[in-house]
This record gives sequence, structure tokens and C-alpha cells, in this order.
Amino acid sequence: MKTLQELTRPNIWRLKPYSSARDEYKGVTASVFLDANENPYNTPHNRYPDPMQWELKGLLAKVKGVAPERIFLGNGSDEAIDLVFRAFCEPGRDNVVAIDPTYGMYQVCADVNDVEYRKVLLDEHFQFSADKLLAAADERTKLIFVCSPNNPTGNDLDRAEIEKLITSFEGLVILDEAYNDFSEQPSFLRQLDRYPNLIVLQTFSKAWGCAGIRLGMAFASADIIGLLSKIKYPYNVNQLTQNEAIGMLHKYYEIERWVTTLKTERERLEQKFRELPCTVELFPSNANFFLARMTDAVGIYNYLVGKGIIVRNRHTVSLCCNCLRVTVGTRLENDKLLQALQLYQA
Ligand code: PMP
Repeated sequence: MKTLQELTRPNIWRLKPYSSARDEYKGVTASVFLDANENPYNTPHNRYPDPMQWELKGLLAKVKGVAPERIFLGNGSDEAIDLVFRAFCEPGRDNVVAIDPTYGMYQVCADVNDVEYRKVLLDEHFQFSADKLLAAADERTKLIFVCSPNNPTGNDLDRAEIEKLITSFEGLVILDEAYNDFSEQPSFLRQLDRYPNLIVLQTFSKAWGCAGIRLGMAFASADIIGLLSKIKYPYNVNQLTQNEAIGMLHKYYEIERWVTTLKTERERLEQKFRELPCTVELFPSNANFFLARMTDAVGIYNYLVGKGIIVRNRHTVSLCCNCLRVTVGTRLENDKLLQALQLYQA
């Protein structure tokens, strides 16, 4: 791996971060707070939140087995995706490499930050080759993005290839594990100590059922996390979100139940899909959604919209011609989808 200083944009390496009132006074004994130009009325919302979210990180550290200094929290994992571009990629000069197809925000953030985005097509089983990704990289490649289970394909990426990629690449590997809770594959969080160039992304939006509160996580070395924290907005995770997440962490058993139910429902839905006349091929999934090739994705998508049922049309995405991406819902929702599809006539 190159040194972190070599990988970081020089202006970011040198940056002196904004220091907020909440950063400067960290004691616990004070009772009169006249330092942050807040309104003394309307408690508790009148106070700025903890800019570093230490209480929440302390609880997460226990659940995830990762030290609090190695956790970054953001406004969804989308914030962490944007920040890695801003921290490491010099606009107009550096580039990143990513598997294709995958989650669309990597490319959007690359485009926003004027960073060249190099796509490497997956094979017919939606697997990637570390050698192909490395061949697409050059000395100006700062980041490589992989996503497992991948979106929109739903499958786990090959673990040995991920390991090979991390050990062979000189830059940073961003491994997006947004859907890992639904997979039988262990998370790479256990491997963080072994791989100083690894950033693992996870989110409260999927298994944790909290897409509305916007909370994403990045796990990496304390030095990488320090850089991301230096450039984030001072109060990027609001207090309501921090409180709700703390509440969720106290009822993790609920999440395990949801995950088990959703995996069972996915299997049932997949089985029923295989029997539909309008299904051409169903791709194996390790997530809370699956990809299905249909006889006519656009026609079926529009037909379902007419019935008030919305799935994701992926027809125009690489390797996904005539494919729909179906999120697993409740049993009732899934049955409504199946009933509509059974009545579909081309
Ligand atoms: N990564 C992947 C692979 C996703 O599919 C999504 C959301 N669809 C995200 C990240 C973004 O998650 P968040 O809600 O935490 O921004």
C-alpha cells in the first residue's frame, strides 16, 4: 500500500478542520452553556448534537467489534462515498475503478467530483476478477469500489478475489457491505486489522429498517477515519438520528428476526417467480432483493405501475437487459406482486 499521505489530496492532508463550540469544550461538569449561540429555549432540540457521535459509536463498537476511533458515521453511507472522493481524489487528475454493474452512487460521486470512473464488467455469473480490476488501474487510481452482496445483481462477490484485490492494490479498496446482514458470508470487519487499505461501508437503511433516519457507517484504520472526520460537516448526524440509532442498537434481536423473515420470504418469492410464465431467468441472491430476467421488463414494469406496485426496472443497466430488481416486502405485499404477475399477459 502507498502511504496514506501519498493517497490523500495535499490540501486535505494539510487542512485544519473547523473547530465547533462542542469540539472545544468537552467537559461534563458545566451547567451553563453560552458558547454556541444556541437558543436557551425549546429543549432538547435547541442544542447542537455531539459532532463525533461518541455515545452511539461506543454502542456500535460493542455490536460490531470495532473500536470507536475506527468508525465514521454519516448522513447515509452515501455521505461516506462522497467523502472518500473528496479526501483522496484530485479532480481532473485521479481516477477510480469499479465493478459494473453496481450501485449507481459511486459513479455519481465520481462525476460530481470530476474524477474519472473506470468500469470493469462483471462476468456472466456477476463475479469479478481482481486481475481485471487491477489491470484497469494505473498510478493515478486512488480507489477501487466493490460491493458484496452487489446491487443490483444481489450476489455475494467471491471472497478470495476480494482478498486478492485488497492485498494487491496500492490504493484504497472500498467494500460496500450494505446488504451483508442478509448474506451467509461473514463481514470483512473482522479483517480490518489485516488490511490498512480497506474501508468497509455499512448502513442502517437495510436490515436495520432505518432508511428514513439517514445513518451510514464507514469502518477503517483510525487514520483514514480521522481524515473523513476532518472534512465532514461539523454536525453531519443530527441528534434525532443519533437517539433513534441508540434505541435500535438496544433491540438488535428485532433486527435478527426481520432478517430471518425476509430471507425466508425471499426464497418463497424466488420459487414462485421461477414458476411464472413471464420469468426467463432468476439470479441467485444473498440480499433482501433479487434480480430477475423477464420476457419484457419494460412492459411488465409499466403493467405493475398500473396496479400500484413498484419494482425497479434495470433494463438499461449493463448485463441486466430485460431485468427487474424486486425488493422483498411483507408476505402480503409479495403476494400482491405475485397475483398481479400471474395475471400478466404480454
Ligand atoms: N450502498 C448500496 C450498495 C446501496 O444499495 C445503497 C442504497 N440503495 C447505499 C449504499 C446507500 O445507503 P444509505 O441509505 O446508507 O445512503
